[in-house]
Amino acid sequence: MVIVHTIEALYEAKKAVVGSVGFVPTMGALHQGHLSLIQQARRENEILIVSIFVNPTQFLEGEDLDAYPRKDEADIQICTLAKVDILFMPSIEAMYEKDELCIGAPAIGGYILEGAKRAGHFDGMLQIVMKLLNLSGAKRAYFGKKDAQQLVLVMQMVKHYFMEVEIVPCEIVRDSLGLALSSRNIYLNEDEKKRALSLSKALKSATKMVMAGELESETIKKEMRLVLAQTDTIEYVAIVNRAFKPLESVEIGNTIILVAGQVGLPRLIDNIWI
Ligand code: AMP
Repeated sequence: MVIVHTIEALYEAKKAVVGSVGFVPTMGALHQGHLSLIQQARRENEILIVSIFVNPTQFLEGEDLDAYPRKDEADIQICTLAKVDILFMPSIEAMYEKDELCIGAPAIGGYILEGAKRAGHFDGMLQIVMKLLNLSGAKRAYFGKKDAQQLVLVMQMVKHYFMEVEIVPCEIVRDSLGLALSSRNIYLNEDEKKRALSLSKALKSATKMVMAGELESETIKKEMRLVLAQTDTIEYVAIVNRAFKPLESVEIGNTIILVAGQVGLPRLIDNIWI
């Protein structure tokens, strides 16, 4: 595995490899969720590039940019074992100039739910993903369904900007009790971890209701809110279609049910695709 920190070194490393590139962008503090993307990309491509970059433009004022977990040494080991070919770990200076041209997330998909709570987050996310996709020259890039809104916006960007990369959606990886893995879970103590399970439990109870024939969004959300009472704050419970348009009733095969809430320090998000 070659580790590169600059754009020049990345281009140099890419010259030395031949074949179709699979790419997995991450912010590091890698866990089994990231690893599942990396392993799938390894299986499906000749060359595998992973990036680790905590992107400042997607953090809002007052968010945890400085406190975001960083585990470079462990991440390098994980990537080595996963047979990554090129690990790209750029500095902020390598990625950004001053006063740059920006990409804006669309008004509806980019400023509801996560985008309402974190206004501007998706502009910064799309900006860095565009840069990383262009730099990697990937044929395929892998994104987790865990960040459903991010995934849908990246797919829209690739379509609207006629980019040639294929975006591959990957399943959510959970711990044995159902908690969706996240780099921020390290902030949860034992009691908070138990209460954090209410997110996945709420999604399970929604799935059960749908399987039993209940399709009305309001009825399902009401039941989910009861389960979510164990969180400190429920931020949203939403039932949308795959383009993030709110649905009055579940459309099987075209629905995402999402929850977000605060338990202890971290904001947690989870969802299920139905
Ligand atoms: P992050 O480092 O949080 O920016 O995540 C990098 C990629 O890993 C994103 O595409 C995430 O959606 C994905 N990811 C994070 N957690 C999980 C998980 N538990 N299961 C599947 N993918 C995940």
